[in-house]
Amino acid sequence: MMRLPKFEYHVPQTIAEAVRIRGEAGPVGQFVAGGTDLYPNMKRRQQTPLSVISVMRLPELNRITNDGKSGLRIGASVTLTEICEHPIINRDYPVVAKAARTISTPLLRNMGTVGGNLLLDTRCNYYDQNYEWRKGINFCLKKDGDVCWVAPGSSKCWAVQSSDLVPVMVAIGAKLRFASTLGERVIDASGLYNDDGIDYLHKRPDELLVDIQLPPTNGWRASYQKLRRRGAFDFPVLGVASWIKTDNGAVTDARIILGGIAPSPVEIKEAAIALIGKPLAEDQIQAAAEAAYIKARPLDNTDFVYQWRKQMARQYTLRALRDLQT
Ligand SMILES: Cc1cc2nc3c(=O)[nH]c(=O)nc-3n(C[C@H](O)[C@H](O)[C@H](O)COP(=O)(O)OP(=O)(O)OC[C@H]3O[C@@H](n4cnc5c(N)ncnc54)[C@H](O)[C@@H]3O)c2cc1C
Ligand code: SF4
Repeated sequence: MMRLPKFEYHVPQTIAEAVRIRGEAGPVGQFVAGGTDLYPNMKRRQQTPLSVISVMRLPELNRITNDGKSGLRIGASVTLTEICEHPIINRDYPVVAKAARTISTPLLRNMGTVGGNLLLDTRCNYYDQNYEWRKGINFCLKKDGDVCWVAPGSSKCWAVQSSDLVPVMVAIGAKLRFASTLGERVIDASGLYNDDGIDYLHKRPDELLVDIQLPPTNGWRASYQKLRRRGAFDFPVLGVASWIKTDNGAVTDARIILGGIAPSPVEIKEAAIALIGKPLAEDQIQAAAEAAYIKARPLDNTDFVYQWRKQMARQYTLRALRDLQT
């Protein structure tokens, strides 16, 4: 049985207290929400904080406020189950509820939060293993080793951004609010992710994610399609989020974001170019899907044969865009 290492556990009641404790803990501190990602990682000794600070008792992080007219604000500690069931999210942002429903299992969704999902560690077949397994291959670049087993000549880690909500939040243009002892800042979700499996977030470790701000629902629609082995539960090995704005039957703006194939979500700008200025018809959808196929470059570090996952980028983009035709 894998056991957790010893650590100090803090349960602050205010944001000010949480960021103060996190600031004082320095490099050995880490926030935890539902713990469905962090605690397994600690058991495998991939992450070994000595001071763990819960964000579950911070009232501001547990609220959902406003609606689609003005834009919805979702606290970072809202659970995935609440996202799946919330009437306003289902009415105004069905794509968010749909993507959340595909995440892991009902039990894990009861514990897992939207904030933890957006800040998930990157994943790789050579990394998501217990300590002894990783020791058996002399570890790897991401933790304790000096070679990448996926691309041995590479100085970069290619572990994969594997969240279902990340491509959706990037596609719809969500904003993220962070707090620390230095104050607050708000960034676009698209600006958070870095294309490096080790240093995967443009965020200081002491910054607390406070909430996610969804844009007003003024004339856009979005959809999400997920590829995984088991329908009951599994991480995405490809996720396609599509977002379009239309006016008088023509697409005026579009974003296609691929998740689950690289250390950060991948925007397919060529797909947007194929769609903008025209009706959302089959020819345009085929051209956008071809652009996604060309740009998708999955590696051999998650489930399924990677060449097949590349083929699926075309199919899943077709499905995501056809969902928006009705
Ligand atoms: C069996 C299994 C299957 C899974 N399947 C999927 C899946 O299909 N799709 C998917 O997307 N995910 C999946 N997950 C991953 C995970 O369950 C979810 O992503 C979940 O939403 C993580 O949320 P959490 O609150 O448990 O995060 P935690 O484990 O608490 O935290 C995750 C990370 O976020 C940081 N963090 C959390 N909250 C904050 C905050 N407010 N501010 C700053 N940092 C913070 C933590 O320090 C940690 O680094 C799966 C996990 C398991 C164990
Ligand atoms: S991509 Fe390479 S360095 Fe990164 S986790 Fe996998 S094997 Fe390790």
